[in-house]
Order: sequence, then structure tokens, then C-alpha cells
Amino acid sequence: ASMREDRIEKTKTVCTYCGVGCSFDVWTKDRQILKVEPHQDAPANGISTCVKGKFGWDFVNSEERLTKPLIREGDGFREAEWEEAYGLIEQKFKEQIKKKGPDSLAFVSSSKCTNEESYLMQKLSRSVIGTNNIDNCSRYCQSPATMGLWRTVGYGGDSGSIEDIGNAELIIITGSNTAEAHPVLATRVKRAQKLHGQKVIVADLRRHEMADRADQFVQPAAGSDLVWISAVTKYIVDQGWQDKEFLKTHVNGMEDYIKSLDPYTLDYAEKVTNISKKELIEIATSLHEADTACFLWAMGITQHGGGSDASTAISNLMLITGNYMKPGAGTYPLRGHNNVQGASDFGSMPDRFPGYELVSDDDVRTRYEKKWEVELSTEPGLNNHQMVEAIHDGSLNAMYIKGEEMAVVDSDANYVQAAFEKLDFFVIQDVFFSKTAEFADVVLPASPSLEKDGTFTNTERRFQRLYQVLEPLGGSKPDWQIIQDIANRLGAEWNYTHPSEIMDEAASLTPMFAGVRYDRLEGYNSLQWPVAADGTDTPLLFKDEFPFPDGKARLYPVEWTKPIDFGDEYDLHVNNGRILEHFHEGNMTYKSEAISKKTPRVFLEVSPELAEERGVEDGTVVRLISPYGRAKVSCIVTDRVKGHELYLPMNTSGEGAINYLTSFHADKDTSTPAYKEVQVKMEILEVK
Ligand code: SF4
Repeated sequence: ASMREDRIEKTKTVCTYCGVGCSFDVWTKDRQILKVEPHQDAPANGISTCVKGKFGWDFVNSEERLTKPLIREGDGFREAEWEEAYGLIEQKFKEQIKKKGPDSLAFVSSSKCTNEESYLMQKLSRSVIGTNNIDNCSRYCQSPATMGLWRTVGYGGDSGSIEDIGNAELIIITGSNTAEAHPVLATRVKRAQKLHGQKVIVADLRRHEMADRADQFVQPAAGSDLVWISAVTKYIVDQGWQDKEFLKTHVNGMEDYIKSLDPYTLDYAEKVTNISKKELIEIATSLHEADTACFLWAMGITQHGGGSDASTAISNLMLITGNYMKPGAGTYPLRGHNNVQGASDFGSMPDRFPGYELVSDDDVRTRYEKKWEVELSTEPGLNNHQMVEAIHDGSLNAMYIKGEEMAVVDSDANYVQAAFEKLDFFVIQDVFFSKTAEFADVVLPASPSLEKDGTFTNTERRFQRLYQVLEPLGGSKPDWQIIQDIANRLGAEWNYTHPSEIMDEAASLTPMFAGVRYDRLEGYNSLQWPVAADGTDTPLLFKDEFPFPDGKARLYPVEWTKPIDFGDEYDLHVNNGRILEHFHEGNMTYKSEAISKKTPRVFLEVSPELAEERGVEDGTVVRLISPYGRAKVSCIVTDRVKGHELYLPMNTSGEGAINYLTSFHADKDTSTPAYKEVQVKMEILEVK
């Protein structure tokens, strides 16, 4: 150890923030992080990083890190040894199973954790406890995108590599603040615009950086995306511009689908979306003229009552125009968390094993039962949004959440927190004492990514290895070790000594990852799924067929769901999303000094018109009130938003958190909360 302490070490890791999946070397001396050095071999980013990847690491040495287990005592917590904490979890979980059965417990994995840890969490839930009540936070963001792609093209992942995006002739970006939420990916688009005149169309409520750079920028009415996308599709078909050859060879369902487009005339779309007929025709024409087009979207599309349907409409449009099966074409749902793709890929889902195979499929389940030597539940479990309701109705009584700030990131935070109050037993495993931990009975100290080995899968389905840079701080442990310890306390006999052994097991069970092995991922090597047993990977997801029995994609008719309306009294719409410097609720980034100094808190964006109307200035503190709660935040006046549109970054867990305003209403197909359907009234508290 002393040798190590004196030396400067360079260790490769993968960024723990967004789904771009930048990898780089971290220079350390003892626990001191000297610098982050990007590497030209890094597949997603080359020599680029953003401010979070470069400066967002000193949270690992924060004095606020949890270093010992905590056990609730009275109104507070006391420190405990691991054995005592494990003993209590064992006793309470066993009692709960005996009292009300395994389905009265639920588990939530984390998209910040590794693939191996997500695999173990679902294995714990399914094989040791006996329930499919397991989920992860992709429920809060990209499940609708995955659903839209499953319905139409069979795989829920980006069609190609991030690099391919730079090669597209046309990019359409919708509901994605790409320059701030996926900065390094946005850099590719900016470069492609400069180098080969890539055309960029942006549709968004807010005039963000990519909107300013776009060749065409349209501002649809909130929640109306399915309508303009379907109207563009219909116009293309009406002009006879569809890719007839591609549709004949590769796509089913044309007739019914075309019929379903009937309502989406240009007149109707103009009325509903506020995008003019001329602008709609311009979008359709750009698509018609481009040989390759790809569609990038994120939570502006997915976080709606009809989020899955809007995502489906996007994929339908790309099928109609033949924009699959070639580099630079296709659909790119931009994954938010660093490992939000991997958390679902590795089975932390209530209805699917790793590789998206259904728990209800007898053949698949038998394969797992043989390997794990247990009988498994055939019933799909609860997703995490449903878990909250199940706690309220008394059927769910114990929970174990790792690495998720669910108390403020699920919608209608007051309702979620009231549920957590009702739990009989609640285990939280995290790096910091979070808002959610306030409701826990046991808090377990986990290690962040820099302190462990494993793999992450980024938005382009790319497996990358992260190597342990630092020893776990104090008494904290890597999540996979904690899960294994708990499983063994409950009677399992797991003896994984390294995450590579967990990956070997997952790969042996999952056809989609059959060839994923650590020796194939050494250093900056990577693999994009599906990975065949011989190690051949798939940068371009669809080559000559789609993963359906007949090899053909499916056009899938969808209808528009109107966004919910909170009533006339709530006269302002609150768009919400990310800012560049912070990540999600900010539990990590606010504890990184360089970042929190620059951006110590979030601001509510108010349009110049509204500012004038209500007397708001930069720094005015306001209270936003919805039927579900209140948030207090200070304002900046900016023309990034217009009229009665507000923009509230989601990056706080404090009194300005957006989810004190949102409702529990969710996408009808995936239960993803309709975070973007929120209206408020505004009270001025202090004028600066
Ligand atoms: Fe790259 Fe995203 Fe990390 Fe920034 S936050 S360095 S873009 S992975």
C-alpha cells in the first residue's frame, strides 16, 4: 500500500454521469484526484469530456460520505457494524416473507451501479426472496422509448453508434436539451454541422443551445409531439415519398398504419401543435431529401401520459422513410444516467430477465431455474411507480433501494414520501445520506464507481470496463459485495470474488450478451450488444433484418393522448430537465467543489413577457403551487422560454425540487411519470 500511496496512478474509468459513456484515465496520488485525462482510444468520446466528467469527482472524498452502516433509533440513527445491520435485515426480511409472502417486499436497483450489480439485485429479488418486484430508474425516463422501439423494431436501443450520428445527413432532435444533458454527443453534431453541413432540426418548447444552432427550430405546444410527428409522416405518405422498396422488404402493417394516420392532417396538426403547415412541410421535405436521417429524443417526449405512443410515432416515421439499417440512420433515445441502459439490460425489471426475456416465458424461466437451482415466480412484479401505490394500499411493506433518490425523483414527491413513512422495514444503500434515507430503518454505505470494478453500458449499447481507482472509503463496500452478503444471510450460497464472475454467469444465461467477457473488454476495448458467443458485436443494430420471427419491423398505429390539465387556476406550464453542471438531484455534483462553486443552485427560468407581467426580476424568489405541493426557487429572466412557459431544472433535492409539483399521473403503457405535464400558479415571495 505504501508504494501505491507514493506513486501517481493512472487508472481507466467510465464516467458516472450521463449515458454518453465517456471513458478516461484518472490520475491519483493516494486518495487525491489529480486530474482526468481523456484518451484518444475512448470509443464514445475520444479526447472530449464535459465539465462533469472532468471536475465532478471530488465527491468521493467528501466528509459527508457514509462510511458505516446506520440503524434507526428513535427519531435518528446510530452507527452500527456490518454484522449487526445484516442481522437486522435478515431478521426483518425473513419475518416479512413469513408474514405476507415474498411479494410484500420490493427492490430497486440503480442506474449508477454496474451491470453486474443490477444482475445481482434482480437475482436476489427473484431467486432468494422470490418476487419479481424489482425495477430501476429507467422507469422515470426512458421506458417509453424502449417500449416504442420494442413495438416497432424489436430492440430497445440506439440504432447505431454515437459516431454514426456525425455521419447522418439530417438530425432531428426532439425533447432533448442535448448540449447540456449529453454534452459530448452534442459536440459530434456541432462538428458534423461545421464539417459537412449536417442539417439539424430541433423541436422543443425551449430555445436551448441546440435550438439556436439548428437549421430549423420549431416550438410545439407542450405534449403535442405525437401529432406533429404523425402529420409529417402522413404528409410524406401523401406525397408518395415513403421508401417503398424498404417497406416492401422489411416492414409489416402498412395498410392499417396508413389508415391510422387519417386524423393527422396538416390543418389539424397546425391547430394542435402551433407548428405552421409551412414548417411541417419543411420538416417532411428535409426528411425526403436526406439519404440518412436519425432521430434523437429524450425525456421531453417520454415523460408524458402518451410517452410510449409518441416514441412509437418516431420509430414509425423512421420506418416509413427507410431510415433504418444504414449507418447514420435510425432512432437514438438518449439514455440519461451513465448505466440506465445496463440496469434494464441486466434484468432489474419487473417482467423481464436479463436481455429482456420475459419472466412469463416458460422456456426462459426454466433456464434460470436450472442455473439458480430454485423455483421462480411466473408473475410479473410491480414497477417502481406501482410500488408506491402498493405501499399506500398496504400490500407492500418492506423495500430495499440502492443508489436511488426515489423520495424526490419519483413524481408527486409528497405522495411518495407519505408512502415511505408507512413501510414496516426500509433499507437504503447509498454513497451519501440522501433525502430517501431519512425514511429508512437501515442505511448501508456503498462505494461509488471510482471504488469498484465492473462494466457500464452507455446509450449506444456499448459495454465498457471501469477499473477500481481508489479503495472503498472507510467501511463502505461495493454494492455487489453488499448484495451478496445479504443474499447469503438469507440462505444463498454465492461466492463471487470479482464482478467478472458475475458477468460470466449473466453471459451464460443471456443470448444477447453471450460473448461478453472481461478479457474482451480490457482497457479501452468495448463491445456493443447483441454480442455473439464468438465475441462478434453489433455497432449497427439492424443489418438485414429486425428481431421478430419473420425478420420484419412492424408499423404500429398510435393515437394522441392529450396532456392532463390541472385547471385554469394553474396558469403556467413548468417544463423541466437538466442543466449542464449538475446531475439529477445533485447528490454527487453539489459535493464536487469546482462544480458547486460555479453553480451552487438551480434557477427558475421566466420569460421576459411573464417577468414584465408579474414584476419578476433576476433573483426574485417565488413560490410555485400546484394541486400536489409547493416549491420555492429564485428566478432568472431569459428568452430561452416564452410566454407562460417556465423551466425548472430538476437538479435539486431541496425545496425547489420539481417533484413537489408533479402529479402521480403516468404513461399508460410503462408507468413512467408524466413529469412534463405540470402546471402551477406563482406567488412572489421576495423581490431582490
Ligand atoms: Fe461524458 Fe456525459 Fe460524463 Fe459529460 S457527463 S463526461 S458527456 S459521460
